[in-house]
Formats: sequence, C-alpha cells, structure tokens
Amino acid sequence: MTVELNKKIVVVGAGQMGAGIAQVAAGAGCAVSLADVSVEAAQAGKAKIEKTLSRLVEKGKFEAAAVLELLGRIQPVDSLQAAAEADFVIEAASEDESIKRSIFSEMEKHAGPSTILASNTSSISIAKMASVTSRPDKVVGIHFMNPVPLMELVELVRSDETSQATYQAARLFVRALGKTVITSQDRPGFLVNRVLIPFLNEACFCFAEGVGTAEDIDLGAKLGLNHPMGPLALSDLIGLDTVLSIAQVLHRDFGDEKYRPAPILEQYVEKGWLGRKTGRGFYEYQ
Ligand code: NAD
Repeated sequence: MTVELNKKIVVVGAGQMGAGIAQVAAGAGCAVSLADVSVEAAQAGKAKIEKTLSRLVEKGKFEAAAVLELLGRIQPVDSLQAAAEADFVIEAASEDESIKRSIFSEMEKHAGPSTILASNTSSISIAKMASVTSRPDKVVGIHFMNPVPLMELVELVRSDETSQATYQAARLFVRALGKTVITSQDRPGFLVNRVLIPFLNEACFCFAEGVGTAEDIDLGAKLGLNHPMGPLALSDLIGLDTVLSIAQVLHRDFGDEKYRPAPILEQYVEKGWLGRKTGRGFYEYQ
C-alpha cells in the first residue's frame, strides 16, 4: 500500500462508521486518533477494524504487513487533545443532536486554529452543530456511506457559513481517500437520506401491516428494482436506531406528516432490536 496522505485526523465515535472512517483514512496514510465515550470503547472500535482486516488477510486480499502498518496509524485515545494538531476532526457519534452539539463544543475547545470540524451526520443540520463553535466557516458535513471501505460515495454538506476554503479542503481530502463526491445543501437528510429514508420507512409500514413478509419485501426490491439489498436488510445494516433518528429529523424539521416514522421502528428500538449491531432487527444475526 502506498502512503499518499500525510494528514492528522481525529475521529470521534468508534462505532461502525467511525471505525470505517479510521480504517480508510489510516489506509491512505493518515495518522488517526480514535475517540469514543472511553478509551476502552475506542480500543473496541480498533479491535473491530483488526478483525475485519484479518479476515481479508486470510482471504488473500490484504498483505499482513500492510495491515500492521495501517493499524499502527490508529491510536485509541481518551480525550480530544490530538485535535490541537489535527487537519480534520470528524465526528461520527450516535445520530443525536444533543450528543453531537456537546461533542462539537468539546472539539472546538481542543482544535488548533486551522483545524476543520466535520460531522458524518446522516441528517442533522450542520449549521446547528456549527452554532456551538466560534468557527462556523470551518464546519462541514462529510457524510460517508456504510460500509465506509467499500462504498465509493461521500456526500459533502455545506451550511450557509461553510467557507469555500473549508469545502475545498474537505473535497480534496475525500477525493484523496479515493471517494467520489456529491454536494448537498444543509437541508434535513441532505440528498441521500432524503431519498432513502422514506423508502425504508415505507417498507417498515408494509411489514408491520402484514402486506408481505420481510423476505418478500426485500426480494421485491432486489429483483424488482435491481437494488443490491432489500430495504429491511439495509435498515438492519444501518442500525434501526439510526434509521429512526433520521426519520424523526425529517418529520420534525420539514413538519410534514409524509415523513412520520413507522411505529414498528420505535417499538424495535425500545426493545433493543437495533439490527446487525445487536444481532436482532427485522432478521436475526449470529
Ligand atoms: P454506532 O451506533 O455504530 O456508533 C456510534 C458510536 O458513537 C458508539 O461507539 C458510541 O459509543 C459513540 N458515542 C456516543 N456518544 C458519544 C460521545 N459523547 N462521544 C464519543 N462517542 C460517542 O453508529 P454509526 O452507525 O457508526 O453512526 C455514527 C454516525 O454516522 C451517525 O451520525 C449516523 O447517522 C452516521 N451514519 C451512519 C450510517 C450507517 O449506515 N449506520 C451511514 C452514514 C452515516
């Protein structure tokens, strides 16, 4: 693997997205500090990356030495101190506005004067997060897709206050990671989830009403619409808590009943059925 990018990155949130972003950035040569609610949670995120990459080594798709090199560039941390020297701090914590706002004020406390503050949010207003900082011009949405190492697209989101220099720096960074960029205005759900979430939500209504089985709903989308995955399996992959949070943001921020979250999503989330990450959602996982 060739080292191309000599950037310092802090990733806040070491769940499926934060771990994926850390892996891709480290793979491109960046020095990555990985934070979560505790250093143990950050270490667990790094362990997940290690497990994924070991499987790829076993399959002959990755060199063991390259994996060691990549993992050596990811440092689990217990504070955001590394933000002082970072080019980008990328927030990838749970899809919850109050959590994100408090992380942004923490990011701002530690960041160096030229550090760009980014969020991987799926739907929450970039301007609202920027408003808790004194540098709204240096705040941008960098919305990676799941799974980060495999998905080519990144959606950049600029608020009215995101500067052209910040947008350009984010664009160059993301393209150096080998991704293709689309750009959205700072509207709820941006472009990708504004289109996707009503589709997933409608599949949840169909399932709850017994219009068809989960398998038939998903097969319908795969074979009838040529989607690589059905909407219920995709919801399980995204995380039902995340799908519900995005649906709630669309419903609240547009104030339009067409975005009303399917009650079954709320019921499953209350039961802790969050999809693949908890082993149970619309399907069961080992
Ligand atoms: P996840 O549940 O897998 O991980 C969230 C992580 O955030 C957890 O490790 C949690 O401990 C951590 N966290 C919570 N509060 C924190 C805090 N105060 N400080 C630091 N870390 C904290 O969720 P995910 O799927 O990785 O989603 C993360 C973000 O990425 C969300 O904004 C989500 O909308 C977005 N996103 C998700 C997907 C997807 O398909 N899941 C796709 C694109 C974007």
